Amino acid sequence: MADVVCVASWNADLISQVARPIARGETLMARSFSISPGGKGSNAAVAAARQGASVALIARIGDDDFGRMGMDLWHAEGIATEHVEQAPGERSGVAQILVYDDGDNSIAVHPGAGAGLGAAQVQAAAALLANCRVVMASCEVPVEATLQAFQLARKANAITLLNPAPARALPDALLALVDVLTPNESELLQLAGPAHSGSVDDAAQHLLTQGVGAVLVTLGATGCRLYQTGQAPVALAGRSMTVRDTIGAGDTFTGALAAALARGQTLAIAMEWANAAAALSVTRHGAIDGIPAYGEVAALLR
Ligand code: ADP
Repeated sequence: MADVVCVASWNADLISQVARPIARGETLMARSFSISPGGKGSNAAVAAARQGASVALIARIGDDDFGRMGMDLWHAEGIATEHVEQAPGERSGVAQILVYDDGDNSIAVHPGAGAGLGAAQVQAAAALLANCRVVMASCEVPVEATLQAFQLARKANAITLLNPAPARALPDALLALVDVLTPNESELLQLAGPAHSGSVDDAAQHLLTQGVGAVLVTLGATGCRLYQTGQAPVALAGRSMTVRDTIGAGDTFTGALAAALARGQTLAIAMEWANAAAALSVTRHGAIDGIPAYGEVAALLR
């Protein structure tokens, strides 16, 4: 049994460091290349585990070297993998990432076997979902899987956490099951739609009217802001850090938030942990290598 269950995407990050964005049709020599673990769900699960939560995954990976890389990572992080399906003959997801000299990045993700994660696989993990405190997902996994997980979470009174990344239209039935939504600014504006994308305030308020319990928008170096129905927004300033790269900042934020909520913290306190954990993550290269341990976050908050 686990405190945090993550309906998770997994992919290998193929990372090239280049000076600047590449124009259409242009070829640029990369300064360096590396392969490392990625996927928003897997990253957030590792972040929650490093923050001290017991974590279990529901995921689907390929029967290939990249899939084995995921299994090795989760076992090393103490994450339960009983509900990770290794699909015979399928490839694992991959993300091709370009990191620019200014720390920004562009990413193309192909989910591979993860695209086949469906409601039946989630239903098979019903006992896990009935006994956890927090269920989290991102938009890298099929909506049917997240919907099924959040329905089971509701029955179990677990907190549901959705990182709506990458942005895509979501069914009303899913939004109504989300306790905490953690978009970045552009995801929030896209989700709210053209009629409500004039400001972060307007977009967040609109999502609350659609049944989302709380909207916690991440604002990069500026920090984050929490919106709840009938309450004034709560803003938390970003921490001043030396940025190496911002890969995985949002995933670290969501995972650390999940761990703090699983410890029984209020949303206001949990967001401070998330903001501090994500700030530490941007000071280091890579998604997984950037995720801090509990003690590091506690030291920053002291
Ligand atoms: P995403 O990585 O999903 O696009 P953001 O860019 O909003 O999301 O970053 C997520 C969180 O990471 C922010 O809310 C903040 O806590 C932290 N963060 C991101 N960039 C910085 C930065 N330059 N300095 C300090 N904290 C940052």
